[in-house]
Amino acid sequence: VRRVGIVGCGQLAQMMAQEGRPLGVAFSFLAEGDENTGCVDGLGTVVHAREGADVETLYRAMGSPEVITAEREQVSVELLRALEQFCPVYPRPDAFEKTQHRLREKTAITAAGLPVAPFLPANSYDEICAAVAKLGYPAFIKSCENGYDGKNQWRVDSDEALAAIRDEVIAQGEQEYVVEKGIHFSREVSLIGVRSADGEVLTYPLAENDHYKGTLLVSKAPAPDVDDKLQQAAQDYLATLLNEWDYVGVLAMECFVSDDGLLINELAPRVHNSGHWTLAGAKTSQFENHIRAILGMPLGDTDAERPAVMINMLGVDKKPTLPNEGVWLYGKSLRPGRKMGHVILVDDTQEALSTRIEAMLEELYGETKRPA
Ligand code: ATP
Ligand code: MG
Ligand code: MG
Repeated sequence: VRRVGIVGCGQLAQMMAQEGRPLGVAFSFLAEGDENTGCVDGLGTVVHAREGADVETLYRAMGSPEVITAEREQVSVELLRALEQFCPVYPRPDAFEKTQHRLREKTAITAAGLPVAPFLPANSYDEICAAVAKLGYPAFIKSCENGYDGKNQWRVDSDEALAAIRDEVIAQGEQEYVVEKGIHFSREVSLIGVRSADGEVLTYPLAENDHYKGTLLVSKAPAPDVDDKLQQAAQDYLATLLNEWDYVGVLAMECFVSDDGLLINELAPRVHNSGHWTLAGAKTSQFENHIRAILGMPLGDTDAERPAVMINMLGVDKKPTLPNEGVWLYGKSLRPGRKMGHVILVDDTQEALSTRIEAMLEELYGETKRPA
């Protein structure tokens, strides 16, 4: 049997395995540090990477997979490079190196001739202030590493707000930051693309994303009222990156639809939360296509026949009873705001779907329709 090794043991690893197993693929998982492995229980061998364990031993303990991938961008690039001695690692370690650090990421996107929000690097509170003075308000200050779900970043819209974060920034100690100009956007969209080892590129329809307190709550796909021009522009951006980086696997691209057109916000070198709708809304899921791509299998059709929506279950783990196309529960222990699962709805029209989204949000979160 063909075996894939996944670095990481969260819900993305879980869904890659659930979608890959029907293709006849076996999985093993590498847990780093004290990572929780509950999500991948019963889906394959779990190996714990201990401090000092040599890489060949880890690779053999994983059952000598024919290819290795990862479920998150904050993974040790050094470890990935060491694993490359034994089998291909896709996406390539270079792709992780670029995307796990916001400054390197923006520099790489710009180098490929693609647009991002104006930005400046900063390594101290004083440099942050100087950058904000140049870029103007509102500004976003983001730590270059370890940011997700809006964590490790601040939005400031006045001198007072900038002064108010001073102690917090200083308390972080030495850190690299990127300061970005706040973009006025009509909406946020994302594109999931996949490139196979032999260079075939496919993309899904754009999804429109609504966040709540920095965390994705709702993804609609195809994004309502997207004209062919916007879809085409996004596809061209992503294809440029996939081809220039000789990328293999799924790459996710988050964008702002701004007054100046489509701007890239950030990339994720992996399957992405805004692509979960593909589990029930597209002919082939992003998870299956990622596994196909890294194993050199032909890619599956990315078409969506009807509008779909994915609603995250944040801090709730009770299966909703309203009609749906599937509920995925990740099997994690309950914590406020934590991504516990998601539900997918599919319908004939965006209008029909809108009504059902509101009802589903109410069932999940009560009257406010928002997570606690
Ligand atoms: P994710 O969980 O998607 O990885 P993250 O923590 O990496 O999120 P970003 O995606 O960079 O953070 O930012 C989170 C959100 O903050 C964005 O989705 C957007 O709503 C807002 N935001 C970030 N940067 C800007 C900007 N330059 N202008 C306007 N809004 C922004
Ligand atoms: Mg991010
Ligand atoms: Mg983001």
